[in-house]
Amino acid sequence: MRERRENPPSDAARTEAYSGLMVPGRSRVGILGGTFDPPHLGHLAVARSVREALDLDEVLFVVANEPWQKVGARSISAAPDRLAMVRAALAGHRGLRASSLEIDRGGPSYTVDTLRELHRSDPDRALFLIVGADAAELLHTWARHEELPGLATLVIVDRPGCSPGADPKGWEVVHVPGPGFEVSSTMVRDALASGEPVDHLIADPVLTQIERRGLYGMGRS
Ligand code: ATP
Ligand code: MG
Repeated sequence: MRERRENPPSDAARTEAYSGLMVPGRSRVGILGGTFDPPHLGHLAVARSVREALDLDEVLFVVANEPWQKVGARSISAAPDRLAMVRAALAGHRGLRASSLEIDRGGPSYTVDTLRELHRSDPDRALFLIVGADAAELLHTWARHEELPGLATLVIVDRPGCSPGADPKGWEVVHVPGPGFEVSSTMVRDALASGEPVDHLIADPVLTQIERRGLYGMGRS
């Protein structure tokens, strides 16, 4: 899908996004967007580390409705199933919350629209866009990526196997150490497909949802 090019954010827009980052009383919200197919212990560890390191009020797990860059590359579980798995993964975790914002909006999921929507609903909120080092390398391929630096601080989390590149231009960037163990949704899907245990990769309530919903070939004889 082609990107629509627009002007980069003005200095005024940037100042607006960053001003008050450390102002007491101004809420600080992390955005961890993803396909979450399925959510795993790495996602949880990332969100917890960033929340603690940056003193965030909460981290929103924003479940992509249509991860347009992945569509066609493999089959993707239905959005309601992925949302249910994220809700199950986060149950009981204070400060971590599932967001259906992109699913409710429908269509292809563009982070720029999500950040704008979050700013609109609470202009006082300071936003922190959390990405793994692999995703950070691809930010320039995201739709209307030029608008993004005016809307959030970028938090880059290390990921095993990804050597950190140069910081993307135009952003205020913060680095946070990653979980330090290798885990990905791909690993979970592969393990399930070959009948290997996944209890070291995902939370039990997520496995329950996978079995109940018959995802990744589970529950079929
Ligand atoms: P897949 O293997 O299907 O690509 P994934 O494990 O990369 O799945 P995503 O839903 O694509 O999970 O990731 C959402 C976000 O979480 C991305 O920014 C990704 O970089 C980050 N992330 C996922 N797992 C880790 C990890 N183990 N360490 C650091 N960041 C991670
Ligand atoms: Mg990924």
